[in-house]
Amino acid sequence: MSEFIIEVSEEEIRRERDKSRELRRSRWWKNRLALGVCHWCGNRFPAEELTMDHIVPVTRGGKASRNNVVPSCRECNSRKKYLLPMEWEEFLAKAQQREEEPS
Ligand SMILES: [Zn+2]
Repeated sequence: MSEFIIEVSEEEIRRERDKSRELRRSRWWKNRLALGVCHWCGNRFPAEELTMDHIVPVTRGGKASRNNVVPSCRECNSRKKYLLPMEWEEFLAKAQQREEEPS
């Protein structure tokens, strides 16, 4: 599974985490939380139960940018952490499908 591992230096990780913290304080992020929808399961939650989730984790080279962070409920966030890269791809594909389905 080594092909999924991207070398990210401690310094880069620290820098992205600082940026995440700033992003979390932004009005843009507060508006996203106010919508109250988990990006992954699509269920509704009060804003305070949603956390900031990186689509591509910082440790895999993901950036703390608006197109890489989504509101996630605690359950999805912690579930995602333990997924293998392949399971994670499936998880992403399912979330994508749900977004494309007209509801
Ligand atoms: Zn969820």
